[in-house]
Amino acid sequence: MYLYQEYPGFISSKMITGYEFNRVIQKIVHEKKAIKQKAKKTITPLIQYLEKFHLYPNPLGNNERSWIAKCPSGGNHFLMVVTTTDEWGCGYYKRKGKLEELKKWLSEIKSKKDQKM
Ligand SMILES: [Zn+2]
Repeated sequence: MYLYQEYPGFISSKMITGYEFNRVIQKIVHEKKAIKQKAKKTITPLIQYLEKFHLYPNPLGNNERSWIAKCPSGGNHFLMVVTTTDEWGCGYYKRKGKLEELKKWLSEIKSKKDQKM
C-alpha cells in the first residue's frame, strides 16, 4: 500500500490503543521521510532525465537507492529506478535498462504518437 502514499487509520483493537497505533504510524512516516531525504542527495543523470521529461521521479522511501517515476508508456503504473546502477525497469512492459535505453523507448513512444496524428 505504501506506493499509494496511504497509511492505515485506527478503528478499534483489543491489543493496542489508538494512541499507540498512531505513534507507530508516526514513527514509520518519520523513518520514510528521513530515507527519502537521504535518497535525494544522490541525483543521477537518469533522475535528472526523468525530471526533465515530467516523469516525476520520487524516492520510494524503503532504502536510499530506490526511486519510482511515472511510466513513459502513459500506463497507470510506476517505473522503478535504482540509483546505485542508474537503471530503470517497467514490470508491466518488461522493459529495462540505463539512460540510453530509456531515451530509445521514449523516442519509440513519440514516433508511435506521431504516426497516429
Ligand atoms: Zn511501464
